[in-house]
Amino acid sequence: MKILVVNAGSSSLKFTVFGMENGQHTMLAKGNIERIGLQRPNFIYQRAGADKEETQVEVKDHADALKALCAKLVDPAVGILHELAEITAIGHRVVHGGEKFTAPAVVTAEVKDSIRACAVLAPLHNPPNLVGIEACQQVFPGTPNVAVFDTAFHQTMPPSSYLYAIPRDLYEKHHIRKYGFHGTSHKYVYAATCEFLGLDPARARLITCHLGNGGSVAAVRGGKVLDTTMGMTPLAGLVMGTRSGDLDAGVVLYMIKNLGMSAEAVDALLNKKSGLAGLADGKSDMRDIISAAQHGDAHAQQAFDCFTHRLTAYIGAYFVVLQGADAVVLTGGIGENSSVVRAALIEPLGVLGCFLEQSANSVMGKAAVVSTPESTMKAVVMPTNEELMIAIEAQQVLVG
Ligand code: ADP
Repeated sequence: MKILVVNAGSSSLKFTVFGMENGQHTMLAKGNIERIGLQRPNFIYQRAGADKEETQVEVKDHADALKALCAKLVDPAVGILHELAEITAIGHRVVHGGEKFTAPAVVTAEVKDSIRACAVLAPLHNPPNLVGIEACQQVFPGTPNVAVFDTAFHQTMPPSSYLYAIPRDLYEKHHIRKYGFHGTSHKYVYAATCEFLGLDPARARLITCHLGNGGSVAAVRGGKVLDTTMGMTPLAGLVMGTRSGDLDAGVVLYMIKNLGMSAEAVDALLNKKSGLAGLADGKSDMRDIISAAQHGDAHAQQAFDCFTHRLTAYIGAYFVVLQGADAVVLTGGIGENSSVVRAALIEPLGVLGCFLEQSANSVMGKAAVVSTPESTMKAVVMPTNEELMIAIEAQQVLVG
């Protein structure tokens, strides 16, 4: 079967098509249509084994974008399908599934209502995700759509992890609690690392660190999440590219009461102007931070140190939560590629029995053990593949 995976943002539509036969998965084509509804939309398309191509397209909405994608997929010169009917299912990334969704769901009118209801918890993400689903229903009538939620994997957290210590009503009436995000990535690297290290997934204890522009850590035991760093929204936890991560809630009150800032201004400041960018004069990209720090930029060095300190502190905490760990798993653009971050992060983990193997640490974008053979807790680089995880989950929901 062939599965189309769609990740719809407010003005973009990322896609990947997988062939899934006999337990094997092959990426057939992938790309992104950007600037939908804006000036000069851009279509980036890459068939497996071919060069990436970039063209301008006239698309005013997501349904138009999907039609442009369909035309490409069946184009005899660059396409991968004879006819659209070869697509047996469509898997959609949906950011917030609230407490309702603990697993992927075949899209029905009721599921769409629930995704809409969760939009209050993810106002920037759920509405465009739903637009993507509805565009697929329009362009691929009769093809099943499966929603795969970023929050679902974390629904195994116990109340001691997910409750905030605020009046209970706020949880019971307004659903204010920790949900966690990047669940699809944490789930994928948990399974992939168990396979790579020969661990039993029903018993393994892994600290999975997804380190991209956004970042989160999860403590996972036997395939169940015991705790994670993001919260009701993706603003909590680690120092990220432009998000502050953990912050005394009193700081928000201070900004509102004493600095006269509006809720919108605080929102923009904490989500878009903080994190690495806030500490390092606007630099949010880890490569820029590392290069500037190496050239003596003290602000960039401090931003780097805050990033690794916060991360190490969470790894220590989660080691205790899990009562020991088989491995720390590093993924996302930073985890997969940055030997500098890995070295700084693993250095203090010696106290937990994890020691860096210098000669292995140059690895980029490939699964590898980067700790010494004596380490009692391994450090593992494991590339994530959220799109493949969505395709696998869509397939499992539909055919078991
Ligand atoms: P997103 O969360 O947007 O999917 P990615 O997972 O692609 O992001 O990660 C982007 C981050 O990865 C950026 O901070 C980028 O600087 C960092 N990154 C990518 N390659 C390297 C590298 N070789 N060294 C350091 N950081 C890197």
